[in-house]
Amino acid sequence: MKLIFASHNAHKATEIQRILPSWIEIKTLSDLHYMDEIPENEATIEGNSQFKARFVHGKFEQNCFADDTGLEISSLNGRPGVHSARYAGEQRDSNDNMNKVLEELAMMSDRSAQFKTVITLYWEGAEHQFEGIVRGQIATVKTGSEGFGYDPIFIPEGETRSFAEMTLDEKNQYSHRARAIEKLVAFFNTAPSH
Ligand code: IMP
Repeated sequence: MKLIFASHNAHKATEIQRILPSWIEIKTLSDLHYMDEIPENEATIEGNSQFKARFVHGKFEQNCFADDTGLEISSLNGRPGVHSARYAGEQRDSNDNMNKVLEELAMMSDRSAQFKTVITLYWEGAEHQFEGIVRGQIATVKTGSEGFGYDPIFIPEGETRSFAEMTLDEKNQYSHRARAIEKLVAFFNTAPSH
């Protein structure tokens, strides 16, 4: 079964495809030659995720899912949160975003944080949301070169390495997105038809 993923992010698509059962084949917007960005202007992670799924369903009139993720840092009152992609500006640069976080946390003793992903599935005319959270710590320096986004500064609970020092399979053992996708898979495994 083909399922549209409302994203252009090939990294995410690879992470997700690795977890999904083989009968679900995801197609990104780039695979469908749709190159425009989807607006992400809602006030919450849940709202952005829902908006993206509705937007893509409106364009393609097919079953699809969207995800939205935020890094929520305790000492920063939950920032960058829904603003994670553009935290250091409209250029949406991961290095700039990480540098801003590291600067803001320089004098903070509490470096606890969590990644939260909300997936919205648009399936046979109904919407379903699935949440995945991983708690951890913000490192003092960037380490590793795998993954994307804030991976070099996020150390999940129970680990000493950042996400960017892990293989994809290791990251998927902990990650927010993997946890949300597992709920999506559980939904499909119990859905009456697919
Ligand atoms: P989005 O809403 O999923 O596009 O993500 C918002 C921001 O969080 C972007 O800056 C992403 O790079 C970052 N982000 C999303 N997922 C991850 C992840 O798994 N690791 C690190 N950063 C992520």
